Amino acid sequence: MMVGVLGAGQLGRMLALAGVPLGMRFRFFDPAPDSVAGHVGELVVGDWGDRATLERFARGLDACTLEFENVPVATHETVSATVPVRPGARALATSQDRVLEKSCFERLGIPTTLHRAVDTREELAEAVREVGVPCVLKSRRLGYDGKGQCVVRSDDDGALDEAWRAVAGRASIVEEFVPFDREVSIIGARGADGACVFYPLTWNTHAGGILRLSVAPAPGVSYKQQVDAENALRAVMEHLDYVGVLTIEFFERDRKLIANEMAPRVHNSGHWTIEGASCSQFENHLRAVCGLPLAVPFCRAAAMVNLIGSHAALPELARVPGARVHLYGKEIREGRKVGHVTLVGDDPVDVYAATRGLRAMANDPSLRTP
Ligand code: AMP
Repeated sequence: MMVGVLGAGQLGRMLALAGVPLGMRFRFFDPAPDSVAGHVGELVVGDWGDRATLERFARGLDACTLEFENVPVATHETVSATVPVRPGARALATSQDRVLEKSCFERLGIPTTLHRAVDTREELAEAVREVGVPCVLKSRRLGYDGKGQCVVRSDDDGALDEAWRAVAGRASIVEEFVPFDREVSIIGARGADGACVFYPLTWNTHAGGILRLSVAPAPGVSYKQQVDAENALRAVMEHLDYVGVLTIEFFERDRKLIANEMAPRVHNSGHWTIEGASCSQFENHLRAVCGLPLAVPFCRAAAMVNLIGSHAALPELARVPGARVHLYGKEIREGRKVGHVTLVGDDPVDVYAATRGLRAMANDPSLRTP
């Protein structure tokens, strides 16, 4: 089976590593010729709008998916004319726009942040007055890892001008600032037949907007929280007629879950499933996309530490008993995700405690915050 993947970063690379044992072969499409999934499959290089190259990419594929949520919807449609691309264009369009995403949560009765859409500087002033300060201004589209967003602490003209500059005057959203207790995510998959499987809620710690640490299951998570998260994810997947892995990220406050955003793809907070689950998020995504039955994942406790901007600690990390090191083959650049390390155990609190040494080796700045 030849599987096409739009985008060829580390997520695509991990999809291929999961799919090869199932007899799958991979062809990736990406504008960047040095994309790291090219090390494990065929890489077709072209711009997202390059129809001829997209058609050449699509020819002969048995199934196609994406590993990058900012693939233009028009690109998705071009490839879909030759081979079905899963998840579909509606799911992609919804998750590319923070306003559509939040409206989707609201329509389905999933608690989300209070928010207002903002198109102009005048609307920004009105929205900040309505939502109240502090609040968060985010560009509607193309934001990731905390880019294109800022916290607005005052509704005076100077503060609003500065915020408007931070989003470069683009169509945006103003959201209430949630003083969350922690951030958690749920990952699940839906097959073309409507069957769904879920992984346990995962606790995520960010620093500078970048994910640093994930622990699963999130310590202290209740059965009700897991069920609420699964029901929310199932509702979104059914609403969007979704096929593949979908992730929802939540803020947790006073044990309640508030949906922040969704990602229509395999997710960094699920990398632990490679070693910590009987079937990883990557394999379940491929099963869904290729029309195979999904596998109910049996999971152990696990923790994942991201390697950001450096893997100089590789020799040290490789010496830690039980630590599984993944390097993505990327050129080192500040703030870039270049690898991760996973530990697996019986109790998430113990596994979390055991990550302290790994995080020190990985120079995790969130270790320094109380
Ligand atoms: P996002 O791009 O929406 O995932 O935001 C990146 C990070 O900024 C989140 O993981 C949170 O740590 C923080 N953040 C985003 N939105 C809010 C909010 N409304 N209230 C508090 N913190 C937020």
